[in-house]
Amino acid sequence: MMRLPKFEYRVPRTIAEAVKTIGEAGPEGQFVAGGTDLYPNMKRRQQTPRTVISVMRLQELNQITGDGKSGIRIGASVTLTDIIEHPLINRDYPVIAQAARTISTPILRNMGTIGGNLLLDTRCNYYDQNYEWRKGINFCLKKDGDVCWVAPGSSKCWAVQSSDLVPVMVAIGAKFRLASTLGDRVIDAAGFYNDDGIDYLKKRPDELLVDIQLPPTNGWRASYQKLRRRGAFDFPVLGVAAYVRYRTGSGSDRALAVEDARIILGGIAPSPIEVNEAAQALIGKPLTEDQIQAAAEAAYIKARPLDNTDFVMNWRKQMARQYTIRALQQLRG
Ligand SMILES: Cc1cc2nc3c(=O)[nH]c(=O)nc-3n(C[C@H](O)[C@H](O)[C@H](O)COP(=O)(O)OP(=O)(O)OC[C@H]3O[C@@H](n4cnc5c(N)ncnc54)[C@H](O)[C@@H]3O)c2cc1C
Ligand code: SF4
Repeated sequence: MMRLPKFEYRVPRTIAEAVKTIGEAGPEGQFVAGGTDLYPNMKRRQQTPRTVISVMRLQELNQITGDGKSGIRIGASVTLTDIIEHPLINRDYPVIAQAARTISTPILRNMGTIGGNLLLDTRCNYYDQNYEWRKGINFCLKKDGDVCWVAPGSSKCWAVQSSDLVPVMVAIGAKFRLASTLGDRVIDAAGFYNDDGIDYLKKRPDELLVDIQLPPTNGWRASYQKLRRRGAFDFPVLGVAAYVRYRTGSGSDRALAVEDARIILGGIAPSPIEVNEAAQALIGKPLTEDQIQAAAEAAYIKARPLDNTDFVMNWRKQMARQYTIRALQQLRG
């Protein structure tokens, strides 16, 4: 049985107290929300904080405010179950509920939060193993070792960004609010993730994720398609988020030209990948089958999965084409 290492557990009641506590704990401190990612990682000794600071009693992080007209703020500690069941999110931002519904299992979604999901550790077959297994291969660059077993000549870690909500947040243009003893800052989801499996976030360890700000709906639509081995529960090994905004005018969406579009690939690299060539294939024309095929081809060319999660990588690359087609077909009027 894998046991948690010893740690001090703190439960602040205000944001000011939370950021002060992590500031005092220094590099040995780490926030925890539902713990569905952090605690298994601690059991495997991948992450070993000495002070664990819960964010679940911070009232401001447990609220959902606003609506599709003005934009919504979702507190970082709102659970995935609450997001899936929230009437306003289902009405105005159905893609968020759709993607959240595919995450882990009902019990884990009762504990797991949106903030924890957006800050999920990167994943790799050589890393997501217990301590003895990792010791058996002399560890790896990401933790305790000095070689990357996926690309032994590489000085970079290629562990994969594996959250289902990350590509969706980037596609729809969400923003994240961070707080620390130095003050607050707001950062675009699109600029929040580094292409590095070790240093995968632009967030400093002492910063608290306070809330996620979704833009007003303004007529855009978005969809998400996830590839995984088991339908019941599994991390994504490819996720495609598609976003489309049509030009305003009369007639059905099928006849209207696309004014703005984004295709984001998740689950295949250390950070989400924006396929600008796919957007260019869509913008300025109606969303026809030809346009969808052109965008899907661009996604196929850009997708370069590595051999460090599930399925054969060449097949996952081909699936980038198919899943982009499915995601865009959902957005036709
Ligand atoms: C069996 C299993 C299956 C899973 N399947 C999926 C899946 O299909 N898709 C998927 O996306 N995820 C999956 N997960 C991962 C995880 O359950 C979810 O991503 C969940 O949403 C994580 O939220 P949490 O609150 O439990 O995070 P935690 O474990 O509490 O935290 C995760 C990280 O975020 C940090 N953190 C949390 N909140 C804050 C905050 N407010 N400010 C600063 N830092 C913070 C923590 O320090 C930690 O680094 C799975 C996990 C398991 C165990
Ligand atoms: S990509 Fe390389 S360094 Fe990163 S976790 Fe995997 S084996 Fe380790």
